[in-house]
Amino acid sequence: FELERPENEPVLDYAPGSEKRQELKEELARLREQDPIEIPLYIGGEEVKTGDLVDIRCPHDHSILLARYHRAGAEEAEMAVEAALEAKKSWNQLDWEDRVSIFERAASLLSGPWRATVNASTMLGQSKSAHQAEIDSACELIDFLRFNNYFLSQLYSNQPASTETEINMIEYRPLEGFVFAVTPFNFTSIAGNLPGAPAVCGNTAVWKPASSAIYSNYYYFKLLQEAGLPAGVINFLPGKGREIGPVILGSEELAGVHFTGSTSTFREIWSQVGQNIENYRDYPRLVGETGGKDFVIAHESADPDELMTALIRGAYEYQGQKCSAISRSYIPEDYWSDMEEELLQKIDNLTMGDVEDFSNFVNAVIDEAAFEKITEYIEDAREADEAEIICGGDYDDSEGYFIEPTVILAHSPRYRTMREEIFGPVLTIYLYDEESFAEILEICDETSPYGLTGAIFARDRQAVDLAREKLTYAAGNFYINDKPTGAVVGRQPFGGARASGTNDKAGSRWNLMRWLSPRTIKENL
Ligand code: GLU
Repeated sequence: FELERPENEPVLDYAPGSEKRQELKEELARLREQDPIEIPLYIGGEEVKTGDLVDIRCPHDHSILLARYHRAGAEEAEMAVEAALEAKKSWNQLDWEDRVSIFERAASLLSGPWRATVNASTMLGQSKSAHQAEIDSACELIDFLRFNNYFLSQLYSNQPASTETEINMIEYRPLEGFVFAVTPFNFTSIAGNLPGAPAVCGNTAVWKPASSAIYSNYYYFKLLQEAGLPAGVINFLPGKGREIGPVILGSEELAGVHFTGSTSTFREIWSQVGQNIENYRDYPRLVGETGGKDFVIAHESADPDELMTALIRGAYEYQGQKCSAISRSYIPEDYWSDMEEELLQKIDNLTMGDVEDFSNFVNAVIDEAAFEKITEYIEDAREADEAEIICGGDYDDSEGYFIEPTVILAHSPRYRTMREEIFGPVLTIYLYDEESFAEILEICDETSPYGLTGAIFARDRQAVDLAREKLTYAAGNFYINDKPTGAVVGRQPFGGARASGTNDKAGSRWNLMRWLSPRTIKENL
């Protein structure tokens, strides 16, 4: 019963004059101009309003109030767990084809009538450009939905051998209990996938969206309802992690956590689960994708045009707020002198501003906390002896949280912006001359605790092979002559180890396996 392998959703280009561009522009204007919407929680399919209202504003324009959301507290967290457990009783009983068809319908709605709304709400709420929204909240989310269905069918088809005297089979049961999905602001696709992947496997979920992505996540939740997702299968629970987290993690029915976000939050979840370990019926599955300090290493044989394009796109698309974004690069000193001027000029020319002007390449960073953190790193580099700012470095939060694409030149490969995650439009470059290529590979491997993405640029095959060998665990997604962002579902399963997560590859069969508890059945003939 294996389903046919889906095609990846084609990326719309929103070319000037096109109908799709017009439609998206109109949707942006409609959402911006409408009265601020009120976003409730959804528990067991019911709207719940706590009255604890929080404003949602555009990161690039503080004057635009998009919505107010009701914030959940401990009581609603308990209700959501109950609702998930209740819904499980019937969701679990559905034929898998029926579950799959609901998510297939969600993919069709997103590909068609809902595309402009989910993209526009991602653009306004998370300050994404049209292209960045399109590859995220449309294409990747559609791909997650369709490929999860396909991967699940592959798993179900995977059966052990039988003999003439016995029949053996595996029943791919969902986990017992419920799954807690804690989702990030930076990808609407991930926000949809973290509760969605367990749900298609027959689990039910409590979904805590990132507070800075509630606007688009709410519209996506409405889409799921329209697709026919039964009440309580996914419970939408915006709230403060610190208040609702301990209640949900404290439930003896916790079967798993599907997480993308910061390393420190995931560690906190892990330690709370550890403290409660005596109370659970099952060992909760902890699946997390966390931080990164993603690198690009250039060898002297690298193609300079390819390298420059990769650095610009990999470091500055979506303001560097991708776990996969390039934040450190190692470049041979001689090689650098030939490309420096051109690269810095190109970065300087990147346009920055509102998302509704589609010509802007860079938009705002997500919120005040991000703005403060990123600019603190910039100021540190301005003062430091071991570093200097060679491009950008200005910022302004008077209208929105704008930070110029910035390049720091580090005089030591151990300077803090070569090691610590910044999660913003800041690239640090270290020029190597004294160190050999092999030494630089070692330095890259040992200076940061993360292991998410990285790239080697080289035309010399031996250099490529050496990098691949030396950097075995430095990146779970390793790119050769390409930027280390933009993994495509079904083509580059995504995730890393070390401080970057449990490496359960988003959008893969192995990820789905984490939401299943197989039962082996042997029957004698
Ligand atoms: N999968 C995304 C990429 O390849 C990054 C995901 C993330 O930021 O968590 O760019």
